[in-house]
Amino acid sequence: MFLIFLFSFLFACNTSSLKNAYNDYYKYQQLYIEALLDNNKEEKIKALKGIIECSKFLNKDYKEYQEKLNKLLPKKKFNFIKIISLNPLTLSPAEIKKHFFLKRGKYYKEVIDLKGAIRKRVFKKFKNYGLIIAQYDKNTVRIVFYSTKPFKLKKIKNATTLTLIYPTKTKIAKKKKKRVIVIDPGHGGIDAGGVGIKRIKEKDIVLKVALKLKNILQKMGYRVYLTRYSDRFIKLKNRTHFANRKKADLFISLHCNIAPRHHKAPRGVETYFLSPNRSERAIRVARFENKEIKGLNYLDQRVILGFLNRDRIIESNKFAIDVQKNILKEVRKRYYIKDGGVRPGPFWVLVGTQMPAILIEMGYLTNPIEAKLLKKRDYQTLIARGIAKGIKAYFDKNFH
Ligand SMILES: [Zn+2]
Repeated sequence: MFLIFLFSFLFACNTSSLKNAYNDYYKYQQLYIEALLDNNKEEKIKALKGIIECSKFLNKDYKEYQEKLNKLLPKKKFNFIKIISLNPLTLSPAEIKKHFFLKRGKYYKEVIDLKGAIRKRVFKKFKNYGLIIAQYDKNTVRIVFYSTKPFKLKKIKNATTLTLIYPTKTKIAKKKKKRVIVIDPGHGGIDAGGVGIKRIKEKDIVLKVALKLKNILQKMGYRVYLTRYSDRFIKLKNRTHFANRKKADLFISLHCNIAPRHHKAPRGVETYFLSPNRSERAIRVARFENKEIKGLNYLDQRVILGFLNRDRIIESNKFAIDVQKNILKEVRKRYYIKDGGVRPGPFWVLVGTQMPAILIEMGYLTNPIEAKLLKKRDYQTLIARGIAKGIKAYFDKNFH
């Protein structure tokens, strides 16, 4: 601990070479994780400063870390208010003293008083409204929005900025947006995935279920994309990039399980969500599904898993529970199926998704009964229907 402290105190980022900078980058990430675990503010600040400096050198995006750092740094007592943008109006700092509405003559006004001072007054006219920013008294900056029509500003406030948005027409009459779901049939092309009894291939089964699931979800009113519609190979990272690009609300990766040789024919449906927590079983399954990732050593993997977004882990966990429950409910209308449970696991296809993401192992291709079932069209339909119902249950519970 002393060594790490000394290290981070004396140096920021070693930029003498790319390799050194990368080394430091990972060291600071490591330090940050430790600081998070210890809840040590000083260490967090040091680590974040290091990450940011390394990121700058390595040309990496550090916005998120900068925001985290800004939240940790002590606030100054008195600040000049900085105008970052005028339309929408974004300012820093953002301490609101007063906020009220006025009607003067034909004008509706929304007034916001902020603590601070401003160097220059602003008078600005936009299409539907006007904006005035001026010093009101020694410690107060007054912002006035005015318009001939009634309106209400949207305010977004975080630790460093306040954004005031004049409502636009499209926002008032906003249409209900279709939810977007990306289904990822695992493997494909040269990668057959698991090969089970009678040479039954994982890549074929998952594609069939994916296509069924797509039809069901579309009928329910969702917008659905598949990462592949045919038997072709796609890299893991391209699958998640695709989901991010489509701005998906949910990501579902479909797989079938394979039992290791010395195990007795295990069975059951399992739903995984991405998490740094790992059980023996999750590691075994992940090792198979992660085959493609070779360039990362254990430390890199740990750092990345350590950086997962907590809220998304919780959301993915909730989503996994709804899906698992509904698959069992649906399939058990006709067949017996073992509940393999909802499990956290380090799956790389789920790393990097910006939305709740799960991976479903729909049964064991090495189990004679399940291999037979997985080939059956009506079993595939029941699984797809169960997943669809799980999706609906998740949305119903968590959004209105
Ligand atoms: Zn698989």
